[in-house]
Amino acid sequence: MNKPTLATLWLDGCSGCHMSFLDTDENILEILNIIDLVYSPIIDIKEFPQNVDFTLVEGAVNTVEDAQKIEEVRRKTKTLIAFGDCAVTGNVPSLRNPFGKEDTIKVAYSDEIMNFFKDGGLPEHLPKAIPLNKVVEVDYFIPGCPPPANAIYNILKGLISGSVPVATEWTRFGR
Ligand code: SF4
Repeated sequence: MNKPTLATLWLDGCSGCHMSFLDTDENILEILNIIDLVYSPIIDIKEFPQNVDFTLVEGAVNTVEDAQKIEEVRRKTKTLIAFGDCAVTGNVPSLRNPFGKEDTIKVAYSDEIMNFFKDGGLPEHLPKAIPLNKVVEVDYFIPGCPPPANAIYNILKGLISGSVPVATEWTRFGR
């Protein structure tokens, strides 16, 4: 019998959620025994595949490219999981929102850098950094900054077995 498939995606996050996924240590072997990892920053596959069973998405939607990517991933995923506080609420990337896109870019990039990239190179930012569910339908939310490794392990195991785990039994916002 074919194993269910898992993808992980990194949008506008610090990679901490993926580090926590790796921090499941030997439990990652158990997860990989029951699921096929088909796309992730930690493996070298360029194209997001069709009909993925579960996708963990780290990070907020901050750029036009992020929005296009999450829409593509939504079309190709059965169970889309907002993975960590940035994906669930906007969290750290959304701190720029009160200041506006133009002012944030001015503060973040010096004139020298802006001149260097004047013909393109900086990603086109959305007016605000927003959580996933402002762009696409999300099926499951895992809070935490980052979610602890045992939360990721237990929640994934539950989802793969067909149950709907209560995420807050293992993790909470800002943890
Ligand atoms: S939720 Fe926390 S650990 Fe995860 S990407 Fe955002 S800032 Fe990093």
